[in-house]
Amino acid sequence: MAESDKGTVHSMLVTLASMISLLALCPPFVILLWYTMVHADGSIALTWEHLKQNGFQGLTDIWPSPSLIAWKIIFCYGLFEAVLQLALPGKRVEGPISPNGNIPVYKANGMQAYAVTLVAYLGLWWFRIFNPVVVYDHLGEIFSALIVGSLVFCILLHIKGHLAPSSTDSGSSGNLIIDFYWGMELYPRIGENFDIKVFTNCRFGMMSWAVLALTYCIKQYEENGRVSDSMLVNTILMLAYVSKFFWWESGYWSTMDIAHDRAGFYICWGCLVWVPSIYTSPGMYLVNHPVNLGLSAALSILAAGLLCIYINYECDWQRQYFRRTGGKCTIWGRTPTKIVASYRTSKGETKTSLLLTSGWWGLSRHFHYVPEILAAFFWTAPALFNHFLPYFYVVFLTILLTDRAKRDDDRCSSKYGKYWKLYCQKVPYRIVPGLY
Ligand code: NDP
Repeated sequence: MAESDKGTVHSMLVTLASMISLLALCPPFVILLWYTMVHADGSIALTWEHLKQNGFQGLTDIWPSPSLIAWKIIFCYGLFEAVLQLALPGKRVEGPISPNGNIPVYKANGMQAYAVTLVAYLGLWWFRIFNPVVVYDHLGEIFSALIVGSLVFCILLHIKGHLAPSSTDSGSSGNLIIDFYWGMELYPRIGENFDIKVFTNCRFGMMSWAVLALTYCIKQYEENGRVSDSMLVNTILMLAYVSKFFWWESGYWSTMDIAHDRAGFYICWGCLVWVPSIYTSPGMYLVNHPVNLGLSAALSILAAGLLCIYINYECDWQRQYFRRTGGKCTIWGRTPTKIVASYRTSKGETKTSLLLTSGWWGLSRHFHYVPEILAAFFWTAPALFNHFLPYFYVVFLTILLTDRAKRDDDRCSSKYGKYWKLYCQKVPYRIVPGLY
Protein backbone atom coordinates (compact mmCIF):
# COMPACT_ATOMS: atom_id res chain seq x y z
CA MET A 1 0.00 0.00 0.00
CA ALA A 2 1.34 3.47 -0.90
CA GLU A 3 2.21 5.84 2.01
CA SER A 4 -0.61 8.26 1.06
CA ASP A 5 -3.18 5.41 0.96
CA LYS A 6 -1.97 4.23 4.38
CA GLY A 7 -2.44 7.78 5.68
CA THR A 8 -5.99 7.92 4.27
CA VAL A 9 -6.92 4.54 5.77
CA HIS A 10 -5.42 5.59 9.11
CA SER A 11 -7.34 8.87 9.26
CA MET A 12 -10.53 7.05 8.18
CA LEU A 13 -10.10 4.56 11.04
CA VAL A 14 -9.48 7.38 13.53
CA THR A 15 -12.63 9.17 12.28
CA LEU A 16 -14.71 6.00 12.57
CA ALA A 17 -13.34 5.23 16.04
CA SER A 18 -14.16 8.72 17.29
CA MET A 19 -17.69 8.53 15.83
CA ILE A 20 -18.34 5.13 17.43
CA SER A 21 -16.99 6.43 20.76
CA LEU A 22 -19.31 9.43 20.64
CA LEU A 23 -22.29 7.24 19.71
CA ALA A 24 -21.52 4.99 22.69
CA LEU A 25 -20.50 7.59 25.28
CA CYS A 26 -22.97 10.45 24.81
CA PRO A 27 -26.10 8.60 26.11
CA PRO A 28 -24.56 7.47 29.45
CA PHE A 29 -22.97 10.89 29.85
CA VAL A 30 -26.39 12.58 29.64
CA ILE A 31 -27.72 10.31 32.40
CA LEU A 32 -24.62 10.73 34.58
CA LEU A 33 -24.78 14.50 34.26
CA TRP A 34 -28.47 14.58 35.17
CA TYR A 35 -27.87 12.23 38.13
CA THR A 36 -24.94 14.28 39.41
CA MET A 37 -26.79 17.59 39.12
CA VAL A 38 -30.06 16.39 40.63
CA HIS A 39 -29.07 13.61 43.05
CA ALA A 40 -25.35 14.03 43.81
CA ASP A 41 -25.21 17.71 44.69
CA GLY A 42 -23.34 18.52 41.45
CA SER A 43 -20.31 16.62 42.74
CA ILE A 44 -18.43 14.47 40.22
CA ALA A 45 -16.56 12.90 43.18
CA LEU A 46 -19.83 11.56 44.68
CA THR A 47 -20.98 10.07 41.36
CA TRP A 48 -17.51 8.63 40.76
CA GLU A 49 -17.53 7.03 44.22
CA HIS A 50 -20.92 5.46 43.45
CA LEU A 51 -19.64 4.07 40.14
CA LYS A 52 -16.40 2.86 41.73
CA GLN A 53 -18.27 0.94 44.40
CA ASN A 54 -20.94 -0.53 42.15
CA GLY A 55 -19.25 -0.76 38.75
CA PHE A 56 -21.47 -1.14 35.69
CA GLN A 57 -24.39 -2.10 37.94
CA GLY A 58 -24.03 1.37 39.50
CA LEU A 59 -24.70 2.96 36.12
CA THR A 60 -27.72 0.77 35.37
CA ASP A 61 -29.08 1.46 38.89
CA ILE A 62 -29.18 5.20 38.33
CA TRP A 63 -30.37 4.99 34.69
CA PRO A 64 -34.13 5.59 34.88
CA SER A 65 -36.45 3.67 32.55
CA PRO A 66 -38.39 5.83 30.13
CA SER A 67 -41.76 5.99 31.95
CA LEU A 68 -45.20 6.45 30.43
CA ILE A 69 -45.45 9.98 31.81
CA ALA A 70 -42.08 10.82 30.18
CA TRP A 71 -43.28 9.57 26.80
CA LYS A 72 -46.55 11.49 27.21
CA ILE A 73 -44.71 14.75 28.01
CA ILE A 74 -42.37 14.34 25.03
CA PHE A 75 -45.20 13.37 22.68
CA CYS A 76 -47.45 16.30 23.70
CA TYR A 77 -44.57 18.78 23.51
CA GLY A 78 -43.33 17.47 20.14
CA LEU A 79 -46.80 17.40 18.66
CA PHE A 80 -47.55 20.92 19.92
CA GLU A 81 -44.35 22.26 18.35
CA ALA A 82 -44.96 20.43 15.06
CA VAL A 83 -48.49 21.86 14.84
CA LEU A 84 -47.19 25.38 15.57
CA GLN A 85 -44.48 24.95 12.91
CA LEU A 86 -47.07 23.99 10.31
CA ALA A 87 -50.00 26.16 11.33
CA LEU A 88 -48.67 29.54 12.47
CA PRO A 89 -48.39 32.16 9.74
CA GLY A 90 -44.97 33.44 8.71
CA LYS A 91 -43.09 35.17 5.93
CA ARG A 92 -41.75 33.06 3.07
CA VAL A 93 -37.95 32.91 3.39
CA GLU A 94 -35.44 31.40 1.00
CA GLY A 95 -32.37 29.65 2.41
CA PRO A 96 -28.96 29.88 0.75
CA ILE A 97 -28.37 28.00 -2.48
CA SER A 98 -27.26 24.44 -1.72
CA PRO A 99 -24.19 22.69 -3.20
CA ASN A 100 -26.52 21.05 -5.73
CA GLY A 101 -28.17 24.31 -6.65
CA ASN A 102 -31.41 23.89 -4.64
CA ILE A 103 -32.95 26.79 -2.75
CA PRO A 104 -34.89 25.61 0.32
CA VAL A 105 -37.99 27.63 1.17
CA TYR A 106 -39.13 28.13 4.78
CA LYS A 107 -41.97 29.72 6.71
CA ALA A 108 -40.47 32.14 9.23
CA ASN A 109 -42.80 31.69 12.20
CA GLY A 110 -40.21 30.87 14.90
CA MET A 111 -40.79 33.95 17.06
CA GLN A 112 -44.54 33.33 17.03
CA ALA A 113 -44.02 29.67 17.98
CA TYR A 114 -41.65 30.74 20.77
CA ALA A 115 -44.13 33.27 22.18
CA VAL A 116 -47.07 30.84 21.96
CA THR A 117 -45.02 28.08 23.65
CA LEU A 118 -43.89 30.21 26.59
CA VAL A 119 -47.32 31.78 27.12
CA ALA A 120 -49.00 28.34 26.90
CA TYR A 121 -46.50 26.78 29.33
CA LEU A 122 -46.79 29.59 31.87
CA GLY A 123 -50.58 29.59 31.37
CA LEU A 124 -50.78 25.85 32.12
CA TRP A 125 -48.85 26.48 35.35
CA TRP A 126 -50.71 29.66 36.32
CA PHE A 127 -54.14 28.06 35.91
CA ARG A 128 -52.94 24.86 37.61
CA ILE A 129 -53.68 22.74 34.55
CA PHE A 130 -50.17 21.30 34.41
CA ASN A 131 -47.37 21.90 36.87
CA PRO A 132 -43.88 22.18 35.25
CA VAL A 133 -42.51 20.64 38.45
CA VAL A 134 -43.73 17.31 37.00
CA VAL A 135 -41.21 17.78 34.17
CA TYR A 136 -38.36 18.38 36.62
CA ASP A 137 -39.41 15.45 38.81
CA HIS A 138 -39.37 13.11 35.78
CA LEU A 139 -36.35 14.66 34.09
CA GLY A 140 -34.22 11.50 34.23
CA GLU A 141 -37.02 9.44 32.67
CA ILE A 142 -37.55 12.14 30.04
CA PHE A 143 -33.84 12.15 29.09
CA SER A 144 -33.85 8.37 29.04
CA ALA A 145 -36.87 8.35 26.70
CA LEU A 146 -35.30 11.05 24.54
CA ILE A 147 -32.10 9.00 24.21
CA VAL A 148 -34.02 5.98 22.90
CA GLY A 149 -36.62 7.92 20.89
CA SER A 150 -34.03 10.11 19.18
CA LEU A 151 -31.91 7.11 18.26
CA VAL A 152 -34.95 5.53 16.57
CA PHE A 153 -35.63 8.90 14.92
CA CYS A 154 -32.08 9.00 13.50
CA ILE A 155 -32.41 5.42 12.21
CA LEU A 156 -35.66 6.39 10.43
CA LEU A 157 -33.93 9.47 8.99
CA HIS A 158 -31.16 7.23 7.70
CA ILE A 159 -33.67 4.87 6.04
CA LYS A 160 -35.52 7.86 4.56
CA GLY A 161 -32.22 9.14 3.17
CA HIS A 162 -31.81 5.86 1.30
CA LEU A 163 -35.40 5.28 0.21
CA ALA A 164 -37.10 8.63 -0.15
CA PRO A 165 -34.74 11.64 -0.11
CA SER A 166 -36.53 14.97 -0.27
CA SER A 167 -34.07 16.65 -2.65
CA THR A 168 -30.95 16.03 -4.69
CA ASP A 169 -28.87 17.30 -1.73
CA SER A 170 -28.60 13.80 -0.41
CA GLY A 171 -26.38 10.79 -0.81
CA SER A 172 -24.27 8.14 0.80
CA SER A 173 -20.56 8.27 1.58
CA GLY A 174 -20.48 4.50 1.11
CA ASN A 175 -19.89 3.93 4.83
CA LEU A 176 -22.82 3.08 7.10
CA ILE A 177 -21.34 4.63 10.26
CA ILE A 178 -20.39 7.88 8.54
CA ASP A 179 -23.81 8.09 6.89
CA PHE A 180 -25.57 7.50 10.20
CA TYR A 181 -23.35 9.91 12.13
CA TRP A 182 -23.21 12.81 9.64
CA GLY A 183 -26.53 12.11 7.93
CA MET A 184 -27.61 11.55 4.34
CA GLU A 185 -29.94 14.44 3.56
CA LEU A 186 -29.24 18.15 3.80
CA TYR A 187 -32.89 19.21 3.72
CA PRO A 188 -35.10 16.27 4.74
CA ARG A 189 -38.79 17.09 4.71
CA ILE A 190 -42.11 15.41 5.34
CA GLY A 191 -44.30 16.50 2.47
CA GLU A 192 -43.58 19.90 0.95
CA ASN A 193 -43.66 21.99 4.08
CA PHE A 194 -42.50 20.16 7.18
CA ASP A 195 -38.77 20.72 7.41
CA ILE A 196 -37.29 18.12 9.74
CA LYS A 197 -34.14 20.07 10.68
CA VAL A 198 -36.17 23.16 11.55
CA PHE A 199 -38.19 20.89 13.83
CA THR A 200 -35.28 19.06 15.49
CA ASN A 201 -32.88 22.00 15.81
CA CYS A 202 -35.20 24.93 16.42
CA ARG A 203 -38.67 23.94 17.48
CA PHE A 204 -37.76 20.92 19.60
CA GLY A 205 -34.15 21.53 20.68
CA MET A 206 -33.81 25.28 21.11
CA MET A 207 -37.41 25.59 22.33
CA SER A 208 -36.79 22.94 25.00
CA TRP A 209 -33.91 25.06 26.29
CA ALA A 210 -36.30 27.92 27.10
CA VAL A 211 -39.01 25.58 28.41
CA LEU A 212 -36.56 23.82 30.73
CA ALA A 213 -35.02 27.10 31.90
CA LEU A 214 -38.51 28.13 33.03
CA THR A 215 -39.10 24.69 34.52
CA TYR A 216 -36.00 24.94 36.74
CA CYS A 217 -37.01 28.40 37.88
CA ILE A 218 -40.56 27.28 38.70
CA LYS A 219 -39.28 24.19 40.52
CA GLN A 220 -37.10 26.35 42.77
CA TYR A 221 -40.02 28.70 43.39
CA GLU A 222 -42.40 25.86 44.27
CA GLU A 223 -39.80 24.24 46.51
CA ASN A 224 -38.62 27.33 48.42
CA GLY A 225 -41.44 29.82 47.93
CA ARG A 226 -38.98 32.19 46.21
CA VAL A 227 -36.49 32.31 43.37
CA SER A 228 -32.86 33.11 44.23
CA ASP A 229 -31.14 35.94 42.37
CA SER A 230 -28.61 33.44 40.96
CA MET A 231 -31.44 31.44 39.39
CA LEU A 232 -33.03 34.63 38.08
CA VAL A 233 -29.80 35.78 36.41
CA ASN A 234 -29.30 32.32 34.88
CA THR A 235 -32.88 32.10 33.61
CA ILE A 236 -32.99 35.65 32.22
CA LEU A 237 -29.69 35.16 30.36
CA MET A 238 -30.68 31.78 28.93
CA LEU A 239 -34.08 33.15 27.89
CA ALA A 240 -32.42 36.22 26.35
CA TYR A 241 -30.14 33.91 24.36
CA VAL A 242 -33.01 31.71 23.15
CA SER A 243 -35.17 34.79 22.38
CA LYS A 244 -32.29 36.14 20.29
CA PHE A 245 -32.14 32.82 18.54
CA PHE A 246 -35.83 32.84 17.58
CA TRP A 247 -35.73 36.53 16.65
CA TRP A 248 -32.99 35.62 14.21
CA GLU A 249 -34.19 32.10 13.35
CA SER A 250 -34.36 32.65 9.59
CA GLY A 251 -30.73 33.80 9.78
CA TYR A 252 -29.89 30.50 11.48
CA TRP A 253 -31.20 28.75 8.37
CA SER A 254 -28.19 30.05 6.47
CA THR A 255 -25.61 28.90 9.03
CA MET A 256 -23.49 25.74 8.97
CA ASP A 257 -25.97 23.65 11.01
CA ILE A 258 -28.64 23.99 8.37
CA ALA A 259 -26.87 24.90 5.14
CA HIS A 260 -23.89 22.52 5.41
CA ASP A 261 -24.38 19.80 8.06
CA ARG A 262 -26.61 16.94 7.00
CA ALA A 263 -29.40 15.53 9.14
CA GLY A 264 -27.81 12.65 11.06
CA PHE A 265 -26.93 11.63 14.61
CA TYR A 266 -24.49 14.54 15.04
CA ILE A 267 -26.97 17.31 14.47
CA CYS A 268 -30.37 15.70 15.13
CA TRP A 269 -29.57 13.57 18.18
CA GLY A 270 -27.53 16.52 19.40
CA CYS A 271 -30.49 18.88 19.18
CA LEU A 272 -33.08 16.40 20.46
CA VAL A 273 -31.09 15.13 23.48
CA TRP A 274 -27.85 17.06 24.03
CA VAL A 275 -29.45 20.53 23.92
CA PRO A 276 -32.22 19.83 26.47
CA SER A 277 -29.87 17.99 28.83
CA ILE A 278 -26.40 19.53 28.56
CA TYR A 279 -27.18 23.07 27.41
CA THR A 280 -29.69 23.60 30.20
CA SER A 281 -27.49 21.98 32.87
CA PRO A 282 -26.34 25.13 34.73
CA GLY A 283 -30.02 25.83 35.53
CA MET A 284 -30.54 22.19 36.51
CA TYR A 285 -27.74 22.59 39.06
CA LEU A 286 -29.07 25.86 40.45
CA VAL A 287 -32.46 24.34 41.39
CA ASN A 288 -30.90 22.73 44.47
CA HIS A 289 -28.24 25.42 44.99
CA PRO A 290 -30.05 28.70 45.49
CA VAL A 291 -27.01 30.98 45.85
CA ASN A 292 -27.67 34.55 46.92
CA LEU A 293 -25.42 36.81 44.86
CA GLY A 294 -26.56 40.19 46.12
CA LEU A 295 -27.89 42.96 43.90
CA SER A 296 -24.67 44.42 42.55
CA ALA A 297 -23.06 41.05 41.69
CA ALA A 298 -26.30 39.81 40.13
CA LEU A 299 -26.72 42.97 38.03
CA SER A 300 -23.06 42.96 36.94
CA ILE A 301 -23.22 39.34 35.75
CA LEU A 302 -26.55 40.02 34.05
CA ALA A 303 -25.20 43.09 32.24
CA ALA A 304 -22.03 41.28 31.11
CA GLY A 305 -24.07 38.30 29.85
CA LEU A 306 -26.56 40.51 27.98
CA LEU A 307 -23.69 42.42 26.35
CA CYS A 308 -22.13 39.17 25.11
CA ILE A 309 -25.47 37.96 23.75
CA TYR A 310 -25.90 41.29 21.96
CA ILE A 311 -22.39 41.18 20.42
CA ASN A 312 -22.94 37.59 19.28
CA TYR A 313 -26.22 38.70 17.68
CA GLU A 314 -24.52 41.66 16.00
CA CYS A 315 -21.77 39.43 14.54
CA ASP A 316 -24.35 37.16 12.89
CA TRP A 317 -26.43 40.14 11.84
CA GLN A 318 -23.45 41.93 10.19
CA ARG A 319 -22.61 38.89 8.07
CA GLN A 320 -26.19 38.40 6.94
CA TYR A 321 -26.98 42.08 6.39
CA PHE A 322 -23.79 42.47 4.38
CA ARG A 323 -24.64 39.45 2.21
CA ARG A 324 -28.31 40.46 1.80
CA THR A 325 -27.41 43.93 0.58
CA GLY A 326 -24.57 42.68 -1.62
CA GLY A 327 -22.13 44.76 0.45
CA LYS A 328 -24.04 48.02 -0.30
CA CYS A 329 -24.47 48.96 3.34
CA THR A 330 -22.57 50.41 6.24
CA ILE A 331 -20.93 48.35 8.98
CA TRP A 332 -19.91 50.28 12.08
CA GLY A 333 -20.75 53.45 10.15
CA ARG A 334 -18.43 52.71 7.23
CA THR A 335 -18.64 51.10 3.81
CA PRO A 336 -17.56 47.51 4.50
CA THR A 337 -14.39 46.07 3.00
CA LYS A 338 -14.81 42.79 1.21
CA ILE A 339 -13.45 40.03 -1.00
CA VAL A 340 -15.46 38.96 -4.02
CA ALA A 341 -14.92 35.20 -3.99
CA SER A 342 -15.92 32.91 -6.82
CA TYR A 343 -16.42 29.17 -6.49
CA ARG A 344 -17.77 26.24 -8.49
CA THR A 345 -20.89 24.32 -7.48
CA SER A 346 -20.98 20.53 -7.71
CA LYS A 347 -22.84 20.97 -11.01
CA GLY A 348 -19.82 22.87 -12.38
CA GLU A 349 -21.49 26.31 -12.40
CA THR A 350 -19.42 29.32 -11.33
CA LYS A 351 -20.97 31.50 -8.61
CA THR A 352 -19.74 34.36 -6.47
CA SER A 353 -20.04 35.09 -2.76
CA LEU A 354 -18.96 38.10 -0.75
CA LEU A 355 -16.64 37.77 2.22
CA LEU A 356 -16.84 40.60 4.74
CA THR A 357 -13.43 41.72 5.99
CA SER A 358 -14.45 44.53 8.31
CA GLY A 359 -16.67 44.92 11.40
CA TRP A 360 -16.55 41.90 13.72
CA TRP A 361 -15.53 39.76 10.72
CA GLY A 362 -12.37 41.85 10.33
CA LEU A 363 -11.21 41.06 13.90
CA SER A 364 -11.00 37.32 13.37
CA ARG A 365 -12.60 34.79 11.04
CA HIS A 366 -14.91 33.38 13.75
CA PHE A 367 -15.04 36.18 16.28
CA HIS A 368 -18.75 35.43 16.92
CA TYR A 369 -17.69 32.38 18.98
CA VAL A 370 -15.98 34.57 21.60
CA PRO A 371 -19.16 36.27 22.90
CA GLU A 372 -21.03 32.96 22.49
CA ILE A 373 -18.65 31.25 24.94
CA LEU A 374 -18.50 34.25 27.30
CA ALA A 375 -22.31 34.46 27.44
CA ALA A 376 -22.41 30.79 28.50
CA PHE A 377 -19.80 31.55 31.15
CA PHE A 378 -21.89 34.43 32.52
CA TRP A 379 -25.10 32.41 32.82
CA THR A 380 -23.13 29.71 34.64
CA ALA A 381 -21.19 32.06 36.95
CA PRO A 382 -24.20 32.46 39.31
CA ALA A 383 -23.52 28.82 40.31
CA LEU A 384 -20.22 30.10 41.75
CA PHE A 385 -17.19 27.82 41.74
CA ASN A 386 -17.82 25.02 44.26
CA HIS A 387 -18.20 22.39 41.54
CA PHE A 388 -16.83 21.95 38.06
CA LEU A 389 -19.87 20.27 36.50
CA PRO A 390 -22.06 23.37 35.96
CA TYR A 391 -19.17 24.61 33.77
CA PHE A 392 -19.20 21.51 31.64
CA TYR A 393 -21.30 23.25 28.99
CA VAL A 394 -18.82 26.16 28.76
CA VAL A 395 -15.91 23.74 28.31
CA PHE A 396 -17.84 21.60 25.84
CA LEU A 397 -18.86 24.71 23.86
CA THR A 398 -15.26 25.93 23.71
CA ILE A 399 -14.13 22.58 22.30
CA LEU A 400 -17.12 22.36 19.92
CA LEU A 401 -16.60 25.86 18.52
CA THR A 402 -12.82 25.48 18.20
CA ASP A 403 -13.40 22.33 16.18
CA ARG A 404 -16.21 24.00 14.24
CA ALA A 405 -14.00 26.97 13.33
CA LYS A 406 -11.43 24.56 11.94
CA ARG A 407 -14.05 22.55 10.03
CA ASP A 408 -15.51 25.76 8.62
CA ASP A 409 -12.08 27.08 7.60
CA ASP A 410 -11.32 23.78 5.85
CA ARG A 411 -14.67 23.81 4.06
CA CYS A 412 -14.37 27.46 3.03
CA SER A 413 -10.79 26.90 1.92
CA SER A 414 -11.81 24.10 -0.43
CA LYS A 415 -14.85 26.11 -1.59
CA TYR A 416 -13.14 29.45 -2.23
CA GLY A 417 -9.48 28.39 -2.76
CA LYS A 418 -7.25 31.43 -3.37
CA TYR A 419 -9.96 33.85 -2.20
CA TRP A 420 -10.05 32.18 1.21
CA LYS A 421 -6.26 32.39 1.35
CA LEU A 422 -6.57 36.10 0.70
CA TYR A 423 -9.14 36.40 3.50
CA CYS A 424 -6.76 34.54 5.85
CA GLN A 425 -3.99 36.99 4.93
CA LYS A 426 -6.25 39.97 5.62
CA VAL A 427 -7.77 38.45 8.77
CA PRO A 428 -5.08 36.12 10.12
CA TYR A 429 -6.68 35.02 13.41
CA ARG A 430 -9.18 32.19 13.51
CA ILE A 431 -11.13 33.00 16.71
CA VAL A 432 -9.39 35.19 19.30
CA PRO A 433 -7.74 38.28 17.77
CA GLY A 434 -4.01 38.37 18.52
CA LEU A 435 -4.03 34.87 20.07
CA TYR A 436 -5.53 32.14 17.90
P1 NDP B 1 -22.03 30.72 10.31
O1 NDP B 1 -22.58 29.61 9.45
O2 NDP B 1 -22.98 31.77 10.71
O3 NDP B 1 -20.79 31.37 9.62
C1 NDP B 1 -19.89 30.63 8.88
C2 NDP B 1 -20.22 30.69 7.38
O4 NDP B 1 -20.30 32.05 6.97
C3 NDP B 1 -19.16 30.07 6.53
O5 NDP B 1 -19.41 28.70 6.37
C4 NDP B 1 -19.30 30.84 5.22
O6 NDP B 1 -20.40 30.27 4.51
C5 NDP B 1 -19.71 32.22 5.68
N1 NDP B 1 -18.60 33.13 5.92
C6 NDP B 1 -17.40 32.86 6.47
N2 NDP B 1 -16.66 33.98 6.56
C7 NDP B 1 -17.42 34.96 6.07
C8 NDP B 1 -17.20 36.36 5.88
N3 NDP B 1 -16.07 36.94 6.23
N4 NDP B 1 -18.19 37.09 5.33
C9 NDP B 1 -19.36 36.52 4.96
N5 NDP B 1 -19.61 35.20 5.11
C10 NDP B 1 -18.66 34.44 5.66
O7 NDP B 1 -21.38 30.10 11.60
P2 NDP B 1 -22.00 29.16 12.68
O8 NDP B 1 -23.12 28.35 12.13
O9 NDP B 1 -20.87 28.42 13.29
O10 NDP B 1 -22.58 30.16 13.78
C11 NDP B 1 -23.86 30.77 13.72
C12 NDP B 1 -24.30 31.16 15.13
O11 NDP B 1 -24.63 30.00 15.90
C13 NDP B 1 -23.23 31.90 15.91
O12 NDP B 1 -23.85 32.86 16.70
C14 NDP B 1 -22.62 30.85 16.78
O13 NDP B 1 -22.04 31.41 17.91
C15 NDP B 1 -23.86 29.99 17.09
N6 NDP B 1 -23.53 28.61 17.40
C16 NDP B 1 -23.88 28.10 18.62
C17 NDP B 1 -23.60 26.81 18.93
C18 NDP B 1 -23.99 26.26 20.25
O14 NDP B 1 -23.94 25.05 20.40
N7 NDP B 1 -24.36 27.07 21.21
C19 NDP B 1 -22.95 25.90 17.97
C20 NDP B 1 -22.64 26.56 16.72
C21 NDP B 1 -22.91 27.84 16.45
P3 NDP B 1 -20.59 30.42 2.90
O15 NDP B 1 -20.39 29.05 2.37
O16 NDP B 1 -22.01 30.90 2.78
O17 NDP B 1 -19.59 31.40 2.40
